[in-house]
Amino acid sequence: MKINERVDRIPLSQTLALDARAKELAATGRDIINMTAGEPDFDSPEIVRTAAKAAIDGGRIRYTPAAGRIQLRQAVADYLSRTRGVAFSADQITVCHSGKHALSGVLLSLVSDGDEVLLLLPAWVSYVEQVRFAGGDPVGVAPRPDMGPDFEALDAAVTPRTRGLMLNSPNNPSGYVYSKEELARVAEFAREHDLWILSDEIYGRLVYDGEPYQSTVQHSEDARERTVIVDGASKTYAMTGYRIGFVAGSPALTGAVARLHSQLTGSPNAVGQEAFEAALRTDASELDVMLKAFDQRRQYMLESLVELGLRTPAPQGAFYVFPEIAGHWSGGDSSAFCDALLESEGVAAVPGSAFGVEGHVRFSYATSMDKIKEGIERLGRFLNSQK
Ligand code: GLU
Repeated sequence: MKINERVDRIPLSQTLALDARAKELAATGRDIINMTAGEPDFDSPEIVRTAAKAAIDGGRIRYTPAAGRIQLRQAVADYLSRTRGVAFSADQITVCHSGKHALSGVLLSLVSDGDEVLLLLPAWVSYVEQVRFAGGDPVGVAPRPDMGPDFEALDAAVTPRTRGLMLNSPNNPSGYVYSKEELARVAEFAREHDLWILSDEIYGRLVYDGEPYQSTVQHSEDARERTVIVDGASKTYAMTGYRIGFVAGSPALTGAVARLHSQLTGSPNAVGQEAFEAALRTDASELDVMLKAFDQRRQYMLESLVELGLRTPAPQGAFYVFPEIAGHWSGGDSSAFCDALLESEGVAAVPGSAFGVEGHVRFSYATSMDKIKEGIERLGRFLNSQK
């Protein structure tokens, strides 16, 4: 059978593939410290588990509207209005199977063949593939050394074919959080070149220091109209397996995504929808516990990596660190570094090349402090063996 070319070009997601490889090795009895996937190691809050069980026991396990249950769409709109300080209504929300599904729904709805989409690097592994799959050309924009946006590079990357840009703050893989001023510049840049902004805000509630979380929707009425927010339940509520996310944007766009998904996937998971609604309606106490634990790990990781002599841009959000390996690894090839680290010390991480920035490696600290400490010790041994 001949596989369609667009599909045939798609590689397996590197984050997921490396996570699977680490788990396979562990299953063969190897002592592996898995710092690949960004998946909270906590249970989802009790209120989430209770709501999921109630949905099943109450028989509310049927198809829902393609855009999601109206109660959940309203809960998302209320949550966004509260946290972004800009009013949202339910018709501006379409619920999807995950943040990833929401992103692909938006890109398939907005991108036409040959459109260029700017990716503010480093960019999460699936952006490039999803833009290509939608028929567009992803254009990476290199960051500053601290992983913040380089506006000169952004200016230089625009062409008459540019239609939109993708922004992810807090950033996966660097943890960089855009300042209010930087978001304002992005918004102005989008206005000047008449671009849409696809703002991936999945880590928006995982910010540890600096300014409170901001979105381009807060900048101006114009920015609000250009911005499409994508977010979901996975990271904030430790609900990765529930597969629930959403798109927030103009009713024309959310309607298009719902129509598309009605043909591709039907309606989002009914149980996940009720669980997510419960999460959004109640600020569960477990969230604070998770946030504090992530913050502690973040500080430990940052200090330890710097002590090991790795230049590490200070992450302010998400649950990743993105140290530079240049100077510690000949050639700076991050993929070869990750292979060697896994082979010799059993520590699994994701190469920076997967995010469009070579010479760095991503470590996820969404794992226990004991594992992090052991991982750091092994990494130190590995770096020493390279001297
Ligand atoms: N988003 C997470 C990560 O970057 C989960 C894996 C994935 O879907 O990429 O590790």
